[in-house]
Amino acid sequence: MSRRYRARIGFSAAVAVLMASLALPQASARTADSGSRCSGGYVALTFDDGPTGTTAAYLKALRDAGRARATFFVTGTLADGQRAGTRRIVAEGHQVGNHSSTHPDLVQLDAATAFAELRDTSRVVRTQTGRAPTLFRPPFGSTDARTRRDAARLGMTEVIWTADTVDWSGIPTETIVANALTVKPGGIILMHDGLPTTLAAIPKIVQGLAERGVCPGRIVYSPTPVEAWPGLTFHAKAAPWR
Ligand SMILES: [Zn+2]
Repeated sequence: MSRRYRARIGFSAAVAVLMASLALPQASARTADSGSRCSGGYVALTFDDGPTGTTAAYLKALRDAGRARATFFVTGTLADGQRAGTRRIVAEGHQVGNHSSTHPDLVQLDAATAFAELRDTSRVVRTQTGRAPTLFRPPFGSTDARTRRDAARLGMTEVIWTADTVDWSGIPTETIVANALTVKPGGIILMHDGLPTTLAAIPKIVQGLAERGVCPGRIVYSPTPVEAWPGLTFHAKAAPWR
């Protein structure tokens, strides 16, 4: 949450689309998230602030980790310059979400500028992938009623997180893994694109989850509010891929 993070990143961007239904048939067959293997439930792996030059390596790491599927919350400005990256994310069966256009603190902006941050990224994602995103994550988790209304107006559910890896802070891979594995079933793990330490954490997180019978899932609307931290709830949870 992190003002420090904001300073480092400067900007990035935008939300998530439920591209699960675009998953290739063979990918669905290979993931077959059913039966006893996932008896411990599902959690969502999420990667913010891409696409970056490292996104392809993240996708490979997920593929190599038993075709684990994740959600990438992309920023519009970066997605616009990494068109192939966004398409590739979707082609490999992952979700793409909206993380704003320039990664501002949305609640500090005037209404028109704040709405444009979301709208423009949804357009970019739709142009690149064929579908507008249905998931939105506000930069820094900074949100309010107006932000949620803007997201809803664009057909998106707001997604915060329930397990923060703090991977942006320079901590080692093992700590990122440990932080990720504090997640509870149904929960959502926050990570970031473009970090070698996080890239290295991917197989270990997937393995740690598997040892608990937990599978990576997609993000869906949750009628029950979920607490991100005291004073902030959201309506999203992890569920099996379709
Ligand atoms: Zn971000």
